Amino acid sequence: MSTLRAYRFQLRCKPEQERALRRSAGCARWIWNQAISEQRRRYAAGEKYAGYAEMCKWLTTWRNAPETIWLSEAPIPPQQQALKRLHEAYQRFFAKAGGYPSFKRHGEEPGLRFPAAAHFQIDQPNQRIKVMKLGWLRIKQSQGINGTPKNLSLSKEGARWFASIQVELPDVLPAAGLEPSLAIDVGLTVFAATSAGVKIKPLLALKRQARYVRRAQKSVSRKVKGSANRKKAICKLGDLHRRIARQREDWLHKLTTELADRHPVIAIEDLRIKNMSASAKGTKDAPGKNIRQKAGLNRSILDAAWGEFGRQLQYKLQWRGGQLVLVEPAYSSQTCAACDHVAAENRKSQALFKCVACGHAENADINAAQVLLQRAKEQWAAGHAAQAGESSPATACGEVVRRRPARKRSDAASVKQESTEVLTRTISLMSTQQESRSL
Ligand SMILES: [Zn+2]
Repeated sequence: MSTLRAYRFQLRCKPEQERALRRSAGCARWIWNQAISEQRRRYAAGEKYAGYAEMCKWLTTWRNAPETIWLSEAPIPPQQQALKRLHEAYQRFFAKAGGYPSFKRHGEEPGLRFPAAAHFQIDQPNQRIKVMKLGWLRIKQSQGINGTPKNLSLSKEGARWFASIQVELPDVLPAAGLEPSLAIDVGLTVFAATSAGVKIKPLLALKRQARYVRRAQKSVSRKVKGSANRKKAICKLGDLHRRIARQREDWLHKLTTELADRHPVIAIEDLRIKNMSASAKGTKDAPGKNIRQKAGLNRSILDAAWGEFGRQLQYKLQWRGGQLVLVEPAYSSQTCAACDHVAAENRKSQALFKCVACGHAENADINAAQVLLQRAKEQWAAGHAAQAGESSPATACGEVVRRRPARKRSDAASVKQESTEVLTRTISLMSTQQESRSL
């Protein structure tokens, strides 16, 4: 077994290299469009749809034809890949899972994909990659590349070009004798709070950026529609959005890397369950967390950030032989971390937790994280005990035991009893978000 991982670096192109990249992307677009035209012509003439292999024959013809000989100056793998993707688009269309493939306009060039390691070569000491027909391209190599290179994609984002290198890494086997050592509670007042007592503030830089975004939006709306100045203003706005996205990404990656470096097994609340029980007025478990002014866009952005946070933690822990544990979040904000007493009155305010039974006082988010850690440890121990009881080796690892989502209960004692039930779960829901995320 092995894991795939991608490294992404910005390219540092010379002007003539940039032109070559643009031309290559243009060739791929031309081929995409030409193939659609040809398929349409065939359909009109009553001929059958031509599959990928047949389209590749057209490609050879085009690359050899004197009037389109310029196609052969660009590398061939991205051109084949364009046809492959077109074929997939047609398959989706035939399966009624997608619309008819559309022509790509100028500016909609597909990325340049090199699907085999033979198409490129990495020179780490000199921070450059050699790409078939494109020569040496310098990269801003922010970190070392480990693993066996598998494929490469070059894509344009705004005015910049990026290289995405996918490598294969051998699986790290989970180490023995671990147990959850940190739990993280996500919230709205702080981005997250850890059971170790650390509050992680959301990235404040983003708030400041909102002002620039508004200014750039105004600038666009003041310009005459269709004018060159409006185009420029739109470009600027796009650059700004991309810069914000990069900052957020950078911040999140640094945060999750640091956490994964320090703790092999981390527990977080099961956000899927949390979201199911969410309502505009707030639930009994999370009073006021979902009130109206906090709902809407702000909320959805945070949700996305938490999902991404969990996804990154999951794979980064896995690389290190650790694991992410999902814990049922019910009543975690009302439970005392010191004595397990559950009462709504424990929660004095959004920020303060004070136990009515034992007097234990703590920041509410940190208390919730500590409760999550206790539950994670119970889950972990119960899961390992269950595994030890079963003699079948097939269930010894990776076995998914999923408890039904908890029903709403007003009786605190029954909730406590429930939390001690067996639940061991390696996560899969986070990874489903991976596919939907665009690069
Ligand atoms: Zn207490």
